[in-house]
Amino acid sequence: MKKHKLLPVKIKHGFAPVLAAVALLSAGCNRQSQMAPSTVQSIKTETEETSSVSIFAMDTIITMEAYGGEENAAIGEAESLLYKLDGLWSVTDENSEIYKANHSQGAATAISEETEQLVTFALKMAEETDGALNPGIYPVLKAWGLTTKQYRIPKEAELTDLLSYTDYRKIQMKNGDLSIPAEMEIDFGAVAKGYAGDLTADIMREHGVTSAIINLGGNVSLVGSSPDGQPWTVGIRSPYGEGNIGTLEASDCHIITSGGYERYFIGEDGKTYWHILDPENGKPADKGLISVTIVGKEGRLCDALSTAMFVMGKDDAEAYWKSHEGFEMILVTEDNEIYLTEGLEESFRLNEASQRIPVKVIRR
Ligand code: AMP
Ligand code: MG
Repeated sequence: MKKHKLLPVKIKHGFAPVLAAVALLSAGCNRQSQMAPSTVQSIKTETEETSSVSIFAMDTIITMEAYGGEENAAIGEAESLLYKLDGLWSVTDENSEIYKANHSQGAATAISEETEQLVTFALKMAEETDGALNPGIYPVLKAWGLTTKQYRIPKEAELTDLLSYTDYRKIQMKNGDLSIPAEMEIDFGAVAKGYAGDLTADIMREHGVTSAIINLGGNVSLVGSSPDGQPWTVGIRSPYGEGNIGTLEASDCHIITSGGYERYFIGEDGKTYWHILDPENGKPADKGLISVTIVGKEGRLCDALSTAMFVMGKDDAEAYWKSHEGFEMILVTEDNEIYLTEGLEESFRLNEASQRIPVKVIRR
């Protein structure tokens, strides 16, 4: 990770937290590539009532706003942590723990406690989702050019060959060391930001912050309610283009979206190929969903499930939700329907422009 000089940039203040949340979410989701080399920029503003910062880390723009308690200290500590996690988990930084594990030719690599926890969690979720979440999918992602923007459509035989190197059960951890077979490569892009959201929210709480909104490239972590005591209003990015499809009123939780629109290319055949792959066939997940939002108390779980449910499709996602606790979801299908789980029925509102989209509620 190259560090650039911190650039002071003015942020407008005095805006309502509600609008900030919506606007930030839209901006964060509106990226098509997360894979630019990491650079670090910091935009810092402190007023009497709030402290906020905008940085570039983990291949995305991260914005944090905190109110109450030791807000400045909390923001500073969170900022350092996010740069540290970027340095540990980047797949492109030669000094990162994940890069070293990927290039160790099968030898065991020493890893930090944070990485050990991330890997342990991701492997548990890979098991629970029957491999829909697969941290070993990286070689296939590279073959599509989704990591370098040198896009191409791999042939079936190439995909079949590469898929034989994606068995996450071969990822092993022993005594703080990580080892993967020489031909495998791992990537925690589907869970790392959710995990970072958990750790950042913890820091806020430890410093007595009463209200905070952390936006990690469209993944939102909320601490408490907004400073006026009302729930935060967070925009859910429209998979159809600019703007939001609707809003969610929420407090003290994580709201994490996976969408085909986040990073994709259009092939010579005119088809759209996106960055969430189905580990069954190595192709962009194609089970009828264009966006999945997961809401829950644990960011790492929400992030893992946003990707896994996108891969599974509506019916399997519904069945998974019915048999597991701890999260709610919003599914948008390619047939232009929205499915909400019942816990979000009261808090989700469609935007004016999306009023014609039918919303169906999934009940237990
Ligand atoms: P997310 O935005 O959380 O859905 O994560 C998407 C990222 O996870 C992609 O950019 C890839 O780096 C990686 N990825 C793609 N497909 C999968 C999959 N099936 N399992 C795990 N990681 C994946
Ligand atoms: Mg995810």
